[in-house]
Formats: sequence, C-alpha cells, structure tokens
Amino acid sequence: MTSTCYIALGSNLGSREENLRQALAKIATIPSTGIDLVSDFIVTAPVGGPPGQNDYYNAAARLRTELSPEDLLAALVRVEQNMGRDRLCETRHGPRIIDLDILLFEDRMIDTPDLTIPHPRMHERLFVLRPLAQIAPDVLHPRIGKTAMALLRACPMGSCGPA
Ligand code: ADP
Ligand code: MG
Repeated sequence: MTSTCYIALGSNLGSREENLRQALAKIATIPSTGIDLVSDFIVTAPVGGPPGQNDYYNAAARLRTELSPEDLLAALVRVEQNMGRDRLCETRHGPRIIDLDILLFEDRMIDTPDLTIPHPRMHERLFVLRPLAQIAPDVLHPRIGKTAMALLRACPMGSCGPA
C-alpha cells in the first residue's frame, strides 16, 4: 500500500543548502520510496539552543512510500547518520548537519516512545509550516483538524515557541 507523507528538513552546519540537496538525493534512494514534491528552501533563525548558532536552511517534502512509518523513520535516521550527524555529541537544539522529521503520515496518529506523528511541535513552528503550506496548503493535521495553511495563519511571526 502506498502512503503519502510529509517530512521536514533542516540544516544549520556546514554547506547548509548543499546538505539539504544531499539529504534529498539520499532520501530518493530509500527503497520503495519516492520524492513527490519539494518546497523552496527558506532561511530561518534558530529557535532555542545555545547562542551564536548559524541560521537554518529549512524545507519540506512530500514522499510516497510503501514503508511503514517506523521503517521510514529508521531510513531517515540512517540518512542523518550517513551524512555525519552524531546525536551523542549534540546539545539539545544545538547545531546539526541535517535534521529529518516526519510531520504527517496519511492521517495516522502514532504515539510511541520513538515516534510521534503528527510531529508534536509542527503546528507551532513557522519554519515547518511555511514550507509545508507551500507544497500542501490543504493537507489536514489529523489531531487539530486544521489545514497547514490555517495552522500557518494561526502562527504569527515571533510567537512560535522553542522546538
Ligand atoms: P528534533 O528533531 O525535535 O530536534 P532530534 O532530531 O534530535 O530532535 O530527535 C529525533 C528523535 O525523535 C528520533 O530519534 C526519533 O525517535 C524521535 N521522533 C519522534 N517522533 C518523530 C518524528 N515524527 N520524526 C522524526 N523523529 C521523531
Ligand atoms: Mg529530528
């Protein structure tokens, strides 16, 4: 069964634009998974974390996959690791080469220790909602019952809390 899902990409270390491109190229090689649509890359100020961090490059993408949400997450974590992300050396909300999050997976709601879908903070993050609303203005958040565009409008600049 093919599922449609939305992911968020972010990078604030190294060649940030190149990191997003490289992540997309690697995601395109995940078995039984294809990239359907990619948003523009946007540049955003870091939220939370230590002072003095670089701005982020952020994007969203729509995937079509035969994988389960759990297997897709495992594949995305492998892409992060493959690109040199080492979670053990990171501070919370600190700089990272690449961050890949699953935002939505069909209209599934999942709450396990390793995976929460919809992503628990997506609706309050401008850097997620802007690119998501660009590629999927009408997609519904199954828990909140609002579209990506409605969530974006409800999330005024500057009032989006830390990740
Ligand atoms: P964040 O993306 O919030 O800054 P991290 O990327 O450091 O945090 O943490 C990722 C961890 O969060 C993963 O190991 C994964 O198990 C967990 N996680 C839970 N839900 C999701 C999701 N929807 N997408 C990606 N990771 C998730
Ligand atoms: Mg993450």
